[in-house]
Parts: sequence; C-alpha cells; structure tokens
Amino acid sequence: MAVRLTFYDGVGTIGGNKILLEDLEQATNVFLDFGTSFGKRGLYFEEYLKPRSVAGLLDPLEMELLPPLRGIYRDDLVVTPQVWDRVAASPLGRELSVNGVLLSHAHVDHSGYISFLRPDIPIFASTMTALIARAMQDSSPADFEREVAYLSQRELTGDLLRSGRSARQRPFVWLDAASIPPELRAFWYKNPAKTKGWDPGPPLAATDRVGGLHVRSWPVDHSIFGAAAYAVETSSGWIVYTGDLRLHGTQGELTRQFAEEARALEPKLLLCEGTRARREECITEEMVRDEALAVAARAPGLLIGDFGPRNVERLLTFLEVARATKRRLAVTLKDAYLLEAMHLANPTVPTVNDTEDMFIYNERKGTVAGWEEELRQRCANKVSTASQVHEDPRGFLLCLSFFDINELIDIDPSEGVYIYSSSEAYDEEQEIDMKRLKCWLEHFHLRFVGEEHGNLHASGHASGPELLELARIIEPEMLVPIHTEWPDYFASGLEGTGIRVRVVGLGESLAF
Ligand SMILES: [Zn+2]
Repeated sequence: MAVRLTFYDGVGTIGGNKILLEDLEQATNVFLDFGTSFGKRGLYFEEYLKPRSVAGLLDPLEMELLPPLRGIYRDDLVVTPQVWDRVAASPLGRELSVNGVLLSHAHVDHSGYISFLRPDIPIFASTMTALIARAMQDSSPADFEREVAYLSQRELTGDLLRSGRSARQRPFVWLDAASIPPELRAFWYKNPAKTKGWDPGPPLAATDRVGGLHVRSWPVDHSIFGAAAYAVETSSGWIVYTGDLRLHGTQGELTRQFAEEARALEPKLLLCEGTRARREECITEEMVRDEALAVAARAPGLLIGDFGPRNVERLLTFLEVARATKRRLAVTLKDAYLLEAMHLANPTVPTVNDTEDMFIYNERKGTVAGWEEELRQRCANKVSTASQVHEDPRGFLLCLSFFDINELIDIDPSEGVYIYSSSEAYDEEQEIDMKRLKCWLEHFHLRFVGEEHGNLHASGHASGPELLELARIIEPEMLVPIHTEWPDYFASGLEGTGIRVRVVGLGESLAF
C-alpha cells in the first residue's frame, strides 16, 4: 500500500476537483487540481452572500468548501487558531504538507481554491494556463476566492483580516516552457497593483518532477486554451488524470495523441472526467460556425454574440462570422486583455492591435483600473464607442454577455439579433437571468437566437461514447470516474473490456 488517493472533492459532482495523491515510499503528496466546488458553494452562498474575507479560512472550512487539512493553507488567512479545533473535530481532519498542485486548466472549478493554499506550494501548469489565470485575476475585482496567480497578503486588525500592503506571486512551474521570452517574463513579473509592495517570487523553473515523482503532461482539447492531462509515475505504477477534455474541438487530435501515449505507460489507474457521460450528441465548432454564419447573414441591424468567458475558440469563430458578414468584431476590455496575455504563450491567438477588424468596445465605466487605462492607451486607435455602434449597427458584431447588457441603453439599437452561444441554463438562478436577458432584448428590439434554434454551442466535454473510446485506448487496470453525476455509466459501458471501474464517494480513499 505505497500509494493512496483521497477524493476530497470532484466525485459524484461536476467540478471542484481536489484529489490528493500520496506516495508514501517517495514521501510525495500532490493535489490534482484544487478547484472551487460551485455545487457545494451554491448550497450556502450566492452572489451577495459570500464567504467573508475578513474571517479568512473560517467560513470555507466551517462550510466544508475546503478539506480540513492543517498545514496546506495560507497562514495569513488564520483569523483565530481556534479554526483548527473545528478541523480537528472533522473525521477528514489531519495534518498535511504538499509538494505541488498539478493544475489541468484555468477554469475556476479546477483552479479557484488554489487561492487558499500556502504561497510556497508550486503550481504545475501549462504556460497558457498560467497566463490565463494571471489575466483573469488582473482584470477582475479583488476577491479572496480568486487569488490563483498571486495573493494579496492579509493583516490581522483586531479580529478582522484586512488587505495588507503587499502582494505575492505564486510559484508556477511551467511544464512546456524551457525558456521564458522577455515579453512573457515582463508580463508575469509585473506588479499588479502599483500602490502595493510586490514579491514576484522565485525564478520560474521547468521540471518534470514533483517531489520524488516523475510527471508527464500533454496538451488536450477543451473549451479553454492551455488544458493539460497528466500522468504521475508512482511507486505502484502510473496514474493518469484527464482533467477536462473532448475529441470534437479543433484540437481534438491532441486528446487522441494523449490517449495513445498514456496507453504506452500501461497505467495502473485512470481518473477520467465524465461531465457528459450520458450524452451522445456531438456538436462541433464547425457546426457552430456554419449555424452562426447562417444567422448572421440574415441578421438585420446589430449583431451580438454571447459565449462563455475565456472561450477563445468561440471568439475566433465569431471573428470568422464577422469577417464573412463584413462587420467589425468588438470585444470588451477584459477580453482584449486576455487575448494579449494568451498571445504571449501562443502567437496565433490574435490581439486587437494585430487584427485589422477587431476593436475594443468602450464600456461606460466610472472607475478605470490601471490595466484598463494602459490597454486603452495601447489600443487608442482601436476603440469603438456606443454612439459609433448606434450610428452603424450593421457594421458591428459585439461580443457581450448578460452582465454587460446595460450597454444597450447607450447603444440604443432599433433592430438586431442576439446569438446565445453558450450552454443552457442549468440552475434556477440562471433561468431567472435568462428571463431577464430576454426582457432586455425585447425592450431593445433584438431577436434572441439560442440552442433551441440550431447548433449554436459546442461543449467543452467529450460525449459518453467518446469517453468510453478514450478509456479503451488508454486501457488502465482500473478507472475511477470523476467530474460526473453519472459514474455508473463507465461500469456498464466498459463491461467485458477488462478495465475495472471503481466508483468512489466524497472523502473516500483508495490505496494500492
Ligand atoms: Zn473545464
């Protein structure tokens, strides 16, 4: 029993992956992702009822959003040592030190709660994932649940934690960058808040070892750039972790290549995502492009494309649609900033300045953050205002979402189409938002076009039959379904293949 896996989160549910791999022989402990569990968080909290940052670790530990593991969390978030008494009382409570987190990609349900981890724990990630995490944090309001790339040191005043005077970069280990080009280094090491002190941390080092263990990683296709799958060579054999993936995206071949190479390791265990385990349909990005093009070609007036945040593949699809229909693509400041950061890791990602028909839509904002000011200056000739869009609605395809919808008051369109190119509402709150969105569109004479009107969204996850195909290729001795509400799908689907399927519950451990 040299190796133990403990599933602190990410089983029986979608997202929130926090899987601990302990190799007792090699004295190495590694987390596979450390994400925010939106399901669990949503049981207690919502937009206006949040864990209190002034109470630090107390709220997320008490409400079981974090596993009760003493030794892995930030010391500056301990408001009272008694917080550990609560941890000690939990059956899962224990002392632990970890050698690193293998971060699969920058979606918050995989990365978010890295925010609470000690700042000396290395985060292994692709260069792209690190840069997306950094851009997301730079361009969002301060939030102690979103301190993935760097953290704002807290200081105790009385019994309240306040934001301190310094910030600190987390040590990211970039798996795919042997050397770091100067522009990328400049972006990564830049102080995000000029008014604070800044510790950029130790120099970056690429390595394929975490603690005493050999790690391999592969780029895979998902609805965010930079996604990786991992394999760790433990004392009991290779353990393979899929992260989130699919076969039907434009980079689907990468996922297939990962599966073939993982097979060659003859893995002991495969931790396999199963978000869409029971779903068979498979809409591709090409189908989305064709459908969006057909809608856009007939659209009168203004055209708006609404898609998931950071889904740059979809943004590129809409760039094609804009070009084909002779419109300018106008993106938010936040998207323009993200594109610039991603361009540093992958020069094929377009930026506003390098792309003739891409513009920044100038949102009406009272306070302008430093990064926004600098970006506006860099792209001074590429900014479109609401009145320009109002004057020439047929000249624009705007990339906006529900949370930017009040811009319509300034744009004041008289007709147009709103293409909703995202997953359908999956909870009550989203359904209410969808109703609100439709009221806004009705008020401004825009027609809503969504999935019910055709293939306007391609999922980031493989369908059930594709997941089984991947499992058969990789052919592990044992498969543990993760990131799914339908773990039993794998047991029936893999019957007769010789692959043993083991369904585990929350907090359960597997030793081998
Ligand atoms: Zn994901």
